This record gives sequence, structure tokens and C-alpha cells, in this order.
Amino acid sequence: MDNIPLVHASLGKQELAAVAEVFASGWPSGQGPQGKALEAQLKQRYGAGDAVAVSNCGAALHLAMLAFRVKPGDEVIVADYTFPAPAHAVRYVGATPVFADVRTDTGTVDPQAVADLVGPRTVGIIAVDTVGLPADYTELQAIADRHGLFLVEDAACAVGATYQGREAGALAEVACLSFHGRKGATSGEGGALIVTDPAIGADARQRSSFGIGSIYDQAQVIGLPIPRFTEIGYNFKLSDIAAAILRVQIDRIGELLERRRAVAAQYAELFADEELLAVPHVPLDRTHAWQSYLVTLDPTVDRAGVATDLRAQGIGCLHGTWASHLQPAFEARQKCPVSADLFQRNLGIPMHAELTENQVERVVAAVRTALRANSAHTRVLGGAA
Ligand SMILES: *Cc1c(COP(=O)(O)O)cnc(C)c1O
Repeated sequence: MDNIPLVHASLGKQELAAVAEVFASGWPSGQGPQGKALEAQLKQRYGAGDAVAVSNCGAALHLAMLAFRVKPGDEVIVADYTFPAPAHAVRYVGATPVFADVRTDTGTVDPQAVADLVGPRTVGIIAVDTVGLPADYTELQAIADRHGLFLVEDAACAVGATYQGREAGALAEVACLSFHGRKGATSGEGGALIVTDPAIGADARQRSSFGIGSIYDQAQVIGLPIPRFTEIGYNFKLSDIAAAILRVQIDRIGELLERRRAVAAQYAELFADEELLAVPHVPLDRTHAWQSYLVTLDPTVDRAGVATDLRAQGIGCLHGTWASHLQPAFEARQKCPVSADLFQRNLGIPMHAELTENQVERVVAAVRTALRANSAHTRVLGGAA
């Protein structure tokens, strides 16, 4: 039988045609006409003050920390259960990430945990839309306002999700998007900052191109104004090749998300009576972008055993995401027990827009069998499958 991969990027003829246009234009590098058009498209989609296209979401988070002038000695509270890019970003500028535990039911950062961690050195909060599910921004914004902190939304996985009727990617003063191949819209690698304050956007755009403006623009002006390097910048530009692909992908987001939603609904229905796992919980005031589909296994289940059984049948799976505070790089002395538990028990199963109903049925049947073969409970009871 065919393999069923965990992820599969939906890139096709339209994207190829867009790339061909860039080749013909002679400007494949960053901050050219495609990049500008993408930024305009994102700015409009999010009703934002500015949108800055960059090389990836890690760079977007780094630029956000620089724009907020985060410095050594500062603390930034970060959601713990996530790909640990937020904590990396805090460390890039020499500051200290403080890890906030997450809600048991959603895996998103727990606003009470955040409130409890605010101290004299705290300058901001980075919340994460966990594998595509928005965090509690009403509560988080209130905490930020009460203490004069910045709030960043890591919406890397959440393009297309909503919270209380608003688009993920526009739920905080700065949002960072990812267009990595595992996300809902992709150019292979890519990212963006979506900001309310145009000054933050201008700061990020400038630093993303070695601290000077667009080289493409400079070639268009009359005369010979020579830009000066007044601060150390970075090369975090998104190529115009990637920007052209993303212009198509952003337009297709509704169609691609529709398919992911159908897969999620089918999983939820087929697993409804399964006692050895819990399917994701989506609170009524928000919608999920389904970047990943994480099931939480019963404590009696040997997750590695389940994964081995699934992979032996060509079914992709993964541990889910990370408990950041447990990663050695951060030398954290804190405890986030909920995040640590989800890190132990979650399992990511295939989720992408190309999955067929038949493949979803096969995944569910294989997971059910693997759960019984790898649960201490059913093994003790005789392992009835
Ligand atoms: C994927 C991801 C990132 C990193 O995105 P890149 O574009 O690969 O840098 C950051 N944050 C979260 C929550 C992610 O899932």
C-alpha cells in the first residue's frame, strides 16, 4: 500500500507559473516587485499597519525582539509548548526567556501562568498559536496592558485560523508568520511580520537588509544617493522567487484550509469512541488552522511503540512539538508540568491538504490497532484488539 506522509506541501502549476514570471523579470532577489506585491497583499489581508516579508519566522521573531529593543538583562515570557523558536529569538538578543506553562485542553499558553511570571525585568510576552490554534489573546492583552509589556503573536502555524472573529496573524501588535514547507501556506522557507505600528515595520524591514533600504529601489531613483550603514543589520530578505509563490499560496489559503478542516473533522468522528487517545479540543470562540493534528495518548500507552508500528506501515508520525524548558540549550530551572506531559504523550499523525478520505480511514485503523498493541492496560487485559 502507498505510504501516507505526515506532511505534504500543496505546490502546483499556479506556483510554477508564478516562478516562471520571476525568471523572466530578471530580479530573483529580495525586496523587488514580487516582495512588494506580497507585502501589500499581506497588509490588506490583515488590515495591518505594515507587513514585512522575511526569510523565515525565526528571523521575524528576531527582528521583533530588535524592534522592541529587548536587551541583555530583560526577561520575555514565552509559551512553553511549541517549536522553541520564541525562546531562540529572546536568546538572539541576549535576553532571558521565561517559560510559561500551557492549558491542558488546548496546549496554548495559560494566561494565569503568564500573569504569575511577570516580574521587574519582564518586558514582553511571546504567545504561540499552538500548531495552528490561537492562544487567549483577550486575557494576554489585558496582562500586557496592565504591566506595559509588548505582546507578540507567534502565528507561524496559524495562517487562516481565527480568534473571536479576528484573523490569526492580527491578534497582537506584532505577529510573526512562517511559510516553511510544513505550514499551511509555503514557499519552502519564508516568513513575515504583520504589525500595527508602521514604525516597527520600517525598523524590521531596514534591519532585514543589512540596515539599508531595498537595492532594487536604489537602482530606480534618479541621481546617485549612496546609502550609509549606520547600524549593524542582517540579511533576512525573502527572495522574489519565494514571494511570487506565496502570492499564489495566500490566495489559495481558503481552499487548502477547507481540505485540512475536512480531514480534522473525519479524524474527530472516527476517533470519537477511542478511549486510548483524546483528539484536539477547539474552544468555541476560535478556529484551528490544523498545521498539525496532535492526539494525546492515554498514559498507559507506549508512544514510541505506536510510532514504530505506524512507521512500519508507511504512515508518517511525529512526537508533536516540544516542551521548550526541557531543551538543554535554554538551561531553564523552571517547571512546566502540563507542557512536559503533552511533550511525553502527544503524537502527530498525517495532516495536509492532499489526504484522501480513504487514507484518513487507514490511519485511524492503524492507530487504533497500534494503541491496543502498545497499551499496558490492554496488554494486561489480554490485548484484545
Ligand atoms: C515553524 C515554527 C517556527 C519557525 O518557523 P521558520 O519559518 O521555520 O523559522 C516558529 N514558531 C513556531 C510556533 C513554529 O511552529
